[in-house]
Amino acid sequence: MDIDFSQYEPFKPVVYAVKCPKCGTLDYPAPMICKNCGERRDPSGAIFSAWEKVPLDGKCKLLGWTKLYALPEGIEKKYLLFGVVEFENGLRAIGRLLVEEPKTGMELVSTAGLVREIPGEDVAGFIFDIAG
Ligand SMILES: [Zn+2]
Repeated sequence: MDIDFSQYEPFKPVVYAVKCPKCGTLDYPAPMICKNCGERRDPSGAIFSAWEKVPLDGKCKLLGWTKLYALPEGIEKKYLLFGVVEFENGLRAIGRLLVEEPKTGMELVSTAGLVREIPGEDVAGFIFDIAG
């Protein structure tokens, strides 16, 4: 039996910021109300117009980081590193940090990935790694 794999999209988690349709302000995580102009967001798109989704990935700068030791069951590691980054568009986000010796201000590249390793609770989030 032949299977046409081209029909299947490879699973690629993506994290989106949202763009206010009124003033163009980008925000993440998606707010219910634009912090700049007060425009309301309706996730269902039923009452208010849907906000444009903007994929968040690419270059970012490390603003700060922390080691987390108290991990939930299901994660087979002693600790995880979490970093706060700023993207080139000014948005900030928290995510997993894959750098062994992080330094504040270092250039990183963000990709979306599954950040929880507990079965049934996979969540798309940010993963930050050294550029190149
Ligand atoms: Zn706005």
